[in-house]
Amino acid sequence: METVFPLTTFSDLGLSQKVLSAVTDAGYTNPTPIQAGAIPPALKHRDILGIAQTGTGKTASFVLPMLTLLEKGRARARMPRTLILEPTRELAAQVAENFEKYGKNHKLNIALLIGGVSFDEQDRKLERGADVLICTPGRLLDHCERGKLLMTGVEILVIDEADRMLDMGFIPDIERIAKLIPFTRQTLFFSATMPPEIQKLADRFLQNPERIEVAPPSSTAKTVTQRIVATHDKDYEKRAVLRDLIRAQTDLKNAIIFCNRKLDVADLFRSLSRHGFSVGALHGDMDQSSRTKMLAGFKDNQITLLVASDVAARGLDIPDVSHVFNFDVPIHAEDYVHRIGRTGRAGRSGAAFTLVNRRDTKYLDAIEKLIGQKIEWLNGDLTELPPPAESYESARPKRERGGRRERDRDRGRRSDGARPDAEKAESPKADSHRHDMKSLDNPVLDETNAKADTVKAERKAQPRGQNTARSANRPAPAPAPANDDHRDRRNRYRRDQDDGPTPVGFGDDIPAFMLIAGKA
Ligand code: AMP
Repeated sequence: METVFPLTTFSDLGLSQKVLSAVTDAGYTNPTPIQAGAIPPALKHRDILGIAQTGTGKTASFVLPMLTLLEKGRARARMPRTLILEPTRELAAQVAENFEKYGKNHKLNIALLIGGVSFDEQDRKLERGADVLICTPGRLLDHCERGKLLMTGVEILVIDEADRMLDMGFIPDIERIAKLIPFTRQTLFFSATMPPEIQKLADRFLQNPERIEVAPPSSTAKTVTQRIVATHDKDYEKRAVLRDLIRAQTDLKNAIIFCNRKLDVADLFRSLSRHGFSVGALHGDMDQSSRTKMLAGFKDNQITLLVASDVAARGLDIPDVSHVFNFDVPIHAEDYVHRIGRTGRAGRSGAAFTLVNRRDTKYLDAIEKLIGQKIEWLNGDLTELPPPAESYESARPKRERGGRRERDRDRGRRSDGARPDAEKAESPKADSHRHDMKSLDNPVLDETNAKADTVKAERKAQPRGQNTARSANRPAPAPAPANDDHRDRRNRYRRDQDDGPTPVGFGDDIPAFMLIAGKA
């Protein structure tokens, strides 16, 4: 990590001996700019307005002074002494891990109050008396409403990632929580950006704060090879390009694939798993235990590819990855820097590929402006792209297509004639991307299978007459949808069957009754 104040040492900051010894054990030599700027005033009970992103050492900038200040006094039942608010459960869990690490010489009770897990264990911790509460806003309010918490003893309030709290609609909750805490508290407020709404909030919550601003990273590591890859607009075309790209990487150890929307995370995850890749997904709609399991699977190398949204992945301390793929160009240029900062850490080499279609060019321009460099195209720019195929099928040479029946017989056969199992035997790399999805409890897949089962059951329940004029293997033309949800599920099922668009008319599959030879 780059240190701007190399002459400052941790022992200059006023931290206690217990904290300093934990910091030494963590292997840190110098404080980062946000730590050098925030720790001394925080230790003097000043309010802090820290403008810094994750990855700058921000967590230690509030955890270390809090540990020092907490050495005086002790916790009382149901009356926490300090409170940290985090926008996501993962970030809350990560801050709790930081407390364990830096607070290893302290005997503090730390309670993590996050949604998606039972109240019982959390209640027990509160009963014992918590020195530190680390919470997501909703779960904290639930505890307050159940009468299990008294906030009148809170001396320090930390609001972390305030701009994300705003994005996620948590500001009214934060305001409610702040009203429960004495006005005399010390407030440490962090945000990566300062849009006017956040500035207003800071003005309301903070009293004469010390403002520390750390420039957001706007440069990318020189060790990361960045390429942009021209694609057409359709998602199935993008997915095919991505698969080829992944397969072409000889040095891929693990990768994060970023999508802009959580729905696309789920779709891409399904598609990649159907194509035999070792893949997991991380998005905001997954329940907590699935998210934790997924992340652990990726960290332990059980999963090679992790499809993620920015919101789910931001701030997570994921170890170095060899590759980053941007399935979508990020809308905010800073997210690009953040995403590709996942690779090429500590001087190691990394690769970042971004799929770009015609609609993305303005976002690409903003990224290139921010990072102050042009990114090279991998295989020619958008003007060199062949015209879009009318359909997925027509994009392939006719002789490779074969009839539907032939395709069904050779299920899974690729355009080069290889079967997936042949590919597996031939290509150790492709093999390493695969994994037995059943070996990892996979909620995204379970959800997909459940949806497919529902649609299959719906099909079975259809009156027989609706299906008679078509080949047994061909999906029925979609009946008039009962409602939008129904239509959505049906479309999804179609997408699950095939990554390309649904063929129009009979395609290559002419029903047998039409092939009966006429009389000569
Ligand atoms: P954060 O911004 O808090 O998410 O921290 C990002 C990473 O920087 C974490 O892996 C920390 O362990 C690490 N880190 C924090 N402070 C320092 C420091 N002073 N020197 C080196 N690494 C640090």
